[in-house]
Amino acid sequence: MPSRYIIIDVYECNGCGSCVEICPEVFAMNDEGDKAILLDSDAKITDKIEEAVAYCAQKCIELD
Ligand code: SF4
Repeated sequence: MPSRYIIIDVYECNGCGSCVEICPEVFAMNDEGDKAILLDSDAKITDKIEEAVAYCAQKCIELD
């Protein structure tokens, strides 16, 4: 299976934090607490990551 990358469109991110709640292994909030950041952009795509993508209200997490 080809490796996939996780990308957050930080312009669209509204800092709701749901991705961090669903998958804290991969997502975190930035120091300002207003945008999500990736802890590991090369993480294996798990069901939790897929769930975080599905629940992102802004649809700003992409799996490339
Ligand atoms: S779920 Fe989407 S909008 Fe919410 S913090 Fe994560 S990336 Fe940003």
